[in-house]
Amino acid sequence: MKIGSPERPLFVAIVGSGPSGFYAAEALLKQKDLAVRVDMFDRLPTPFGLVRGGVAPDHQKIKGVTLVYERVAQTPGFRFFGNVKLGRDISVDELKKRYDQIVYAVGNESDRALGITGEDLSGNHSATAFVGWYNGHPDWRGENFDLNQEAVAVIGIGNVAMDVTRILAEDPEELKGTDIAGYAVDALRNSKVKTIWLIGRRGPAQAAYSPAEINELGSLHSADLIVDPKETVLGSESQKDYADPENKKNVDYVAAKAKEGEGSKPKKIRLRFCASPVEVIGKDGKIVALKLEKNKLVLDENGNVKAKGSGEFDTIPVGLVFRSVGYRGIPISGVPFDDKAGKIPNLEGRVLDAATKAVVIGQYVVGWAKRGPSGLIGTNRADSVATVKCMLEDAVKIPSDGLTRDTDDKSTPALLESRSVRFVTFGDWKALDKLELENGKKLGKIREKFTTIPEMLGALPQKGPVSV
Ligand code: NAP
Repeated sequence: MKIGSPERPLFVAIVGSGPSGFYAAEALLKQKDLAVRVDMFDRLPTPFGLVRGGVAPDHQKIKGVTLVYERVAQTPGFRFFGNVKLGRDISVDELKKRYDQIVYAVGNESDRALGITGEDLSGNHSATAFVGWYNGHPDWRGENFDLNQEAVAVIGIGNVAMDVTRILAEDPEELKGTDIAGYAVDALRNSKVKTIWLIGRRGPAQAAYSPAEINELGSLHSADLIVDPKETVLGSESQKDYADPENKKNVDYVAAKAKEGEGSKPKKIRLRFCASPVEVIGKDGKIVALKLEKNKLVLDENGNVKAKGSGEFDTIPVGLVFRSVGYRGIPISGVPFDDKAGKIPNLEGRVLDAATKAVVIGQYVVGWAKRGPSGLIGTNRADSVATVKCMLEDAVKIPSDGLTRDTDDKSTPALLESRSVRFVTFGDWKALDKLELENGKKLGKIREKFTTIPEMLGALPQKGPVSV
């Protein structure tokens, strides 16, 4: 019997149900000459990863991509096992016994620190926490942000920083009808924040935000985007970056904004370029200010523009700091991990042993866990297709002992049931989805999310699931 034949399909476990996981499932299930079965696992009862827990609530259009994932989930051969955590409810060895190939689509669940004095003060938060909080992610719904501050700082000028700044600056009345967590709208309504400092360590030609995002920030009804004209003048080192059309749009936009001055809107977003935080200053355990060092831009040995401290400092009074300087992965028991890079070591998506760098047979990685935290949602499609290409090349080489795997349909659910794991099927998720939409309608919102796992499981039939 050939692996990939209708009698003996290729059995694949995908761990993680965000965009990269779904694009991998899509690429696998559309193979015409290969029968494939995909079981997708997620530690949360809900699917869609960062589309649900990361994309900002005022970006509903982007969330429309879940319609594509829903279609994948309806494809024959696909099953979803939500509320199942790898390393807790099922082990890598148990997956290996049941699946020919395993794909890690686990994203980056943690974030980078700045490594400066004062980062341990209360009021110093990661963007990850704030984003998860306003999106009702069960991991973060209990976070507490003291928005009783006149001024806050957001460090980093990528698109996540744009989201965080917008949510802080936007009129909460414009957010209340979205799928934002109800407690977050309440907190934002009571927010005293008037000034948001947005701190970029390099210049406007090197900004990581997209033109659409900076435009949106500059078009809020409730806040002015204020830029110092002097900081929009480019030096010779930035001319190469400025030649890139996206960078050019970014530079031209902020240069035009700089001419508008302070404006008259109630809140102010003060965008600073070429400044790095060097110390979070506290008093009685609380943040009172942020010390910044002005940077010069220099070319490194590869011709890339780098920020270099100038030795000139200034201090801005702020009561909260949100660092938005990039995400990083966290290790999973039984899965190789490159701690320095914060991702799963791999060669074009084939997982490598962290020590020997040898290919780990039958294990693959996609998305941010593969390449680090970069790219838009759509970037993950080509990335997952590339990993699936490797998987298909390897599938034909699976030795005959692969045929001895426990590929009985009931094997995985039986194992989970034996451990009293209340796994959530895609049908269960659709029931939760319906309830969230109905609850939202009652409140005049697109969706009212369940924000704790007990709430989610409590809304489902209590008896173990009968079909997957
Ligand atoms: P990002 O795009 O990599 O931006 C990180 C920012 O942090 C950069 O400005 C970077 O500056 C800065 N930074 C890094 N280390 C720093 C340090 N030690 N001190 C000061 N600044 C530092 O990451 P992200 O914003 O987390 O976004 C991750 C990915 O998700 C991106 O691809 C983004 O486009 C995507 N995303 C898209 C959307 C959207 O389309 N609406 C929304 C959210 C996220 P340097 O450039 O100097 O390194």
